[in-house]
Amino acid sequence: MSLHEKAEAIYGALLVEYGEPDWRPSHSPVDELIWTILSANTNDRNSERAFYALRERFGEDWDAVRTAPLDEIKEAIRVAGMYNQKAPNIVATLEKLKQERGEYNLDDLRQMPVAQAQAYLQSFPGVGHKTASIVLLFCFRLGAFPVDTHIQRQSQRLGISDRKASPEKIKLLWESLLPPETYYALHLNLIRHGREVCQARAPRCEICVLQAHCDYFLMIGDWG
Ligand code: SF4
Repeated sequence: MSLHEKAEAIYGALLVEYGEPDWRPSHSPVDELIWTILSANTNDRNSERAFYALRERFGEDWDAVRTAPLDEIKEAIRVAGMYNQKAPNIVATLEKLKQERGEYNLDDLRQMPVAQAQAYLQSFPGVGHKTASIVLLFCFRLGAFPVDTHIQRQSQRLGISDRKASPEKIKLLWESLLPPETYYALHLNLIRHGREVCQARAPRCEICVLQAHCDYFLMIGDWG
C-alpha cells in the first residue's frame, strides 16, 4: 500500500467512525487569530475563558485591547498561562493589523493563494504554522492542515511520517497526500481519535479502527 493509499484509508476509516463534522465558522478571522494565540500550551477550556475574559473587560473593541495597559491584558488572560508572552503578542498583532490595514479585518485572506495567506499570518508575532493553518481552515476552509500534538503523535505511530518528524513536516506530508477538501474532517477526527483512543501514554489499540494501517500496532519499524 502506498503512502497515498494509506492516508486515504485513514481518512475514510475515521469518517466512518466519527462522521463528517459540519463546517460552521463561529469567529471572525481576527477573533480566531487572537483566540488561537491564547490557546498555545493550554487546554480549550482555559483559552476560551481567557478569550471571554478579554471580551468582558474590553468589549468587542480590539482598539481598546491594543491601547490598554499591558498589565490589564495580562490580568484578563492569566487563566491561559504564559500571559507574559501572550499579552505582548496580542498587542503587537493588533498593532500590525491597525498599521497595515487600518482595521481589524482579515477577510481578504479568502482570496489569496493559501501559501501566501499562510506566510502573511506567520508574519504576526507568536503566530506559527499551526495558528495560521487554524485560521485559514476554520474561517475560510482553505487548504491548510493544522498539526497539533495529537496529530503529530498519531502521524508518527501510523507511519505517515517518521518517528521524529516535526509538526511542520507532518503538515506538509498530509497536504501532499490528501486534497484540501479532506483537511477539516481529517483534522477534527484525528484530534478526537487522539483524545479518545490513540492517547499519548496508553493507546487503546484494541478498540482502534486504524489497526490495519498503523505501524505501531503492526510493529513495523523499531517500535518493539
Ligand atoms: S492502532 Fe494504536 S497506536 Fe495505532 S492509531 Fe490506533 S490506537 Fe494509535
